[in-house]
Amino acid sequence: MQITDMLLTNRNARPGTRITPRGLVIHWTANEGKGANAVANRNYFNKPTTEASAHYIVDDKQIVRCLPETEMGYHVGAKSYKPEALKLLSSYPNNCTIGIEMCVNSDGDFKSMYQRTVELAADILKRYGWGVDRLWRHFDITGKNCPAYFVSDEFARRFTCLTAAQAWGKFKADVQNLLTPNPQPTPKPVDKVSIEINGVHLKADGYLKDGVSMLPVRAVSEALGVEPVYDAATKQVTVNCHDLTESIESGVSYAPARELAEALGLQVEWDGTTKTVKLSKGCVCN
Ligand SMILES: [Zn+2]
Repeated sequence: MQITDMLLTNRNARPGTRITPRGLVIHWTANEGKGANAVANRNYFNKPTTEASAHYIVDDKQIVRCLPETEMGYHVGAKSYKPEALKLLSSYPNNCTIGIEMCVNSDGDFKSMYQRTVELAADILKRYGWGVDRLWRHFDITGKNCPAYFVSDEFARRFTCLTAAQAWGKFKADVQNLLTPNPQPTPKPVDKVSIEINGVHLKADGYLKDGVSMLPVRAVSEALGVEPVYDAATKQVTVNCHDLTESIESGVSYAPARELAEALGLQVEWDGTTKTVKLSKGCVCN
């Protein structure tokens, strides 16, 4: 992961106070103006009159480091804090958190910025040996509408088909995915179901549950270029915004073949002789 060091020199934004981080806070810059990218936001933090900062700023092109992780920034200061933050962080959460700002400049690509933020967050969590329970929205600490697309449904829907709570759940799940790669499905051999997509055999298998073929959601969706969304809070899996009746086996989500096929716009056929679920796009012409 490439990080550009542009450490702040403004003492009003970088007091030099040593900290021992206990959590990672996600923000957005709230500036959709053209050119409001990572460097521009860093330069704003560095103006002598600015009394705000964050450790990292991420845009669709790069990650800019403004502060060492062992120094305090001013990103979650407030008159009062939520009880959970006071309990798990401190009475002044700036003194024990690392802050990441996500850029939303209209001339940037949200998806690239998002992916880079997921990678940076996962890298930080890994280095400190933390789980995704150490991820905070600015909102969770002070109640501020930040990052708005993880707090307000109206903003979330500008960027995804999800509610804000689902988008935040997905962010945490995406980070989690980088912390622990998905284990391969291990269905009982007797129940095994093979999968074919447009005539091509899929590596992953499904299994039979009470006569219903259950297919691995991620493996099938990704074979079609669709990313399933996992909400860590509700443990719900959606594909193309279709909620699935999933079942988790060895950490892998499975859904009934017909439901998953419908969510992906596929036809489904069952070959009882070879115990194969055949999924295909478009019309079955014979
Ligand atoms: Zn914020």
